[in-house]
Amino acid sequence: MDLDHFKIINDSLGHNIGDLLLKEVANRLTKQIRNEDTASRLGGDEFVVLFSELSGDPQLAAQQAQQGAHKILKTLSQPYTISSNMLHITPSIGIVIFPMNDENADDILKFADTAMYRAKDAGRNTIRFFLPGMEQAAEAQLRLQNDLRLAIRNNQLALYFQPQVNIEGHLLCAEALLRWSHPEQGMIEPNTIIPAAEESGQILQISEWVLKQALAQSKTWMNESTNLQRIAINISSVHFHQVGFAYQVKRILQETSVNPNRLTLEIHENTLADNLEEAKEKILALKRLGVRFCIDSFGVGYASIAYLRRLPMDELKIDRSFVRDIESDPKDAQLVQTIITMAHLMEIEVIAIGVETEAQLQFLRDKGCKMFQGYYFNHPLPADQFESLLKKQFA
Ligand code: C2E
Ligand code: MG
Repeated sequence: MDLDHFKIINDSLGHNIGDLLLKEVANRLTKQIRNEDTASRLGGDEFVVLFSELSGDPQLAAQQAQQGAHKILKTLSQPYTISSNMLHITPSIGIVIFPMNDENADDILKFADTAMYRAKDAGRNTIRFFLPGMEQAAEAQLRLQNDLRLAIRNNQLALYFQPQVNIEGHLLCAEALLRWSHPEQGMIEPNTIIPAAEESGQILQISEWVLKQALAQSKTWMNESTNLQRIAINISSVHFHQVGFAYQVKRILQETSVNPNRLTLEIHENTLADNLEEAKEKILALKRLGVRFCIDSFGVGYASIAYLRRLPMDELKIDRSFVRDIESDPKDAQLVQTIITMAHLMEIEVIAIGVETEAQLQFLRDKGCKMFQGYYFNHPLPADQFESLLKKQFA
């Protein structure tokens, strides 16, 4: 186990207090465990507890280990009084049950470490078990991140463009969607690329590439012969929260000579959850230039309605999961209708994504939705195919 944000205590209150806190953690740990167990400190704020004499049945042993870990979590999370400072700290715990095969002590510690990082990823102050396959998954992620370093340089990234059409079926806008043509693994989807890049920090370089590429490419389509009105670009939360985000967007708009009112930035509700005031400032700065904002996957995050009230959004995108079931699930149908009505009352445009059937389109139209995106019209297309489609429409 590892203490969550221990560094903050060390940095803000000094190493003396940090050391005293570690001693108190060790104290509580030793009191919590049974005589046959062992508690030790590996170094820094990392501790290891060895539960021995658990059941021979792995299932039961796991239950016992979990109960033990819960007790530790609870004791260590109680407030500490250290030199008249009241401190709070929580642990993240990874559990490995062994023997499994013929692993040695180093392997076991590595497995516990992997599980502990899963607990951190899950939001800290929690427990995760090591599962077979986790190690491979962590290694695969690392390999992917290494490969990603070369992807931009070797021209392996590409943007696909998915049409957004109006009620008459005219292609007016497009959403730029990232693809990675990996030399061995083939086409990799953004749902794999983005989280890996966010974790490794490569997201900033990739996001800049996406902005430049999408704007430069769509600029060539925004003329009389194709009449593309706007390009929508997805913004990662990590990118959005960077200092200088608004300035960077402005700079790339200038470099590519794209009129800001031709750009829609799609952001997820969860991006706004972190720091609403900071988000508002950035959004307002870009809106003053004319950039439009869309809440992506509306309804699947938290507190969407509060955001709509406090932030000047231009559009919201009804999530695919609601559209998928509008024909079969009366609750989803009701929800979609409510979202459309509410958005219109707030003068926010609505776009429905994931439209796959005529019946879904009909329903959405009847309820007043005016923009659509989905396989019913087109899948995301490589730039050349998208361009042919645009030209055909206005031929
Ligand atoms: P998103 O923003 O919700 O993008 C729409 C996704 O829905 C796309 O998946 C698209 O292919 C898919 N889709 C569209 N219509 C339909 C339909 O009718 N049926 C079904 N089943 N799917 C449909 P894709 O391209 O795999 O992108 C997944 C997500 O990855 C995007 O979700 C977006 O959040 C993220 N993403 C994509 N490109 C970028 C990027 O350049 N930057 C960032 N930060 N995120 C990106
Ligand atoms: Mg999107």
